[in-house]
Amino acid sequence: SARGLTKIYHMGAVEVQALRGVDVDLYEGEMAILLGPSGSGKSTLLNILGGLDIPTAGHVLFQGRDLAEGGERALNRYRRDHVGFVFQFYNLIPSLTARENVALVTEIARDPMSPAEALELVGLGARLDHFPAQLSGGEQQRVAIARAIAKRPDLLLCDEPTGALDSKTGILVLEAIMRVNRELGTTTALITHNAVIGDIAHRVLQFADGRIVEQRVNETRREPGELVW
Ligand code: ATP
Ligand code: MG
Repeated sequence: SARGLTKIYHMGAVEVQALRGVDVDLYEGEMAILLGPSGSGKSTLLNILGGLDIPTAGHVLFQGRDLAEGGERALNRYRRDHVGFVFQFYNLIPSLTARENVALVTEIARDPMSPAEALELVGLGARLDHFPAQLSGGEQQRVAIARAIAKRPDLLLCDEPTGALDSKTGILVLEAIMRVNRELGTTTALITHNAVIGDIAHRVLQFADGRIVEQRVNETRREPGELVW
């Protein structure tokens, strides 16, 4: 949950107000989609929810506790144990195989699944020993998803995960995220510019100018394999 989130960036003498008092709740197990124009504050909100950035004002509550309460150590622990991030660019380590890229995270996690199990879940059970350069863009992104979920995070935050992919490849990536959401029950928030992706959400949050201006519950959420583009 977040209450009254404000974020102001100072660029020399110029102030940019990225968030203007955002209240938001993510419900356990849901897939929420964040839509909105460029610059409307979506990434800023996701980064604050994931503990990558701190708000200028307002609070983020995780399991009822204010993230700001425990200082830097608690925030590090929150990021390490409870949150998985997926970005537009995969940031895989080129000299490591898919399995080894995921193992970087599982080695330091409290209750991880095995790298093979995580890669299996995103449909890459047959690509464990491939290096990033031997994988397609969509496959590389699915390795990044496996890396994000192998520690069994409570929260999966995805910032334009299909932004660098063509639409067909993007479907495979979204299906992998949906499968994680359904099979592990991982609460997921996903930013996208493609309104069609609203079909896979339980809830759509519409951003404009630093605010959530509309929320819509999706009664007809589509399941993997049903996506039509
Ligand atoms: P996009 O769809 O283009 O990714 P967004 O909705 O994710 O946009 P944000 O990245 O959250 O938008 O940015 C919101 C506003 O804050 C923008 O005006 C942006 O220029 C500004 N901003 C974001 N990050 C910073 C930063 N680190 N320093 C200064 N200004 C920033
Ligand atoms: Mg963004």
